Amino acid sequence: SLKIGVVALQGDYAAHAEALRSSGTEIVLVRATKELADLNGLVIPGGESTALLKLLTRENMYEAVREFSMAKPVFGTCAGCIILAKEVLPSPQQSLAVLDIVVQRNAYGRQTESRVAMGNCALSGGGLEMVFIRAPCIVRTGSHVEILARYGGFPTLVRQGNILAATFHPELSTDRRIHRFFCAMIRSGQPCLT
Ligand code: GLN
Repeated sequence: SLKIGVVALQGDYAAHAEALRSSGTEIVLVRATKELADLNGLVIPGGESTALLKLLTRENMYEAVREFSMAKPVFGTCAGCIILAKEVLPSPQQSLAVLDIVVQRNAYGRQTESRVAMGNCALSGGGLEMVFIRAPCIVRTGSHVEILARYGGFPTLVRQGNILAATFHPELSTDRRIHRFFCAMIRSGQPCLT
């Protein structure tokens, strides 16, 4: 079976681990570089991207996660999406820069304006519940970036080769299509296009 790591330094990694377990995969909570060995894929969860960056650096994991994301499938949600992005607004912030998108942090408003919404999704089954929590907005996508879901006119789920990213929190909904899609991406072994 697939062995998928979930970066477990900060944020809602436990919910991702639960969502992936229910998709029948083996889960490793990743808190050190050595735990990236033998993984088939990696999830970078939501939380707070600045805090997560600090922790990745403090634990000497930053470079290893960047190398992993250039070699194997990675799925970033919310803060994880910000960490993968090529460019972060409004204040520039260090990022792995492996996904050709520009994201605007906290673009949908304050915590109290976080929301659960129905958006359009290209995956079979159509409409998708999206939980936004102080979500970033994808304001620009490169030409190799596929848009798999949208809400309010903006992309909310995108893929570029081996990299999948969502601005919302699929692990907090009961619909498991996105996690299954990530597992299918891993199984298909499609090489990274970046
Ligand atoms: N607002 C957070 C950030 O900018 C992301 C929020 C989330 O991951 N739910 O990092």
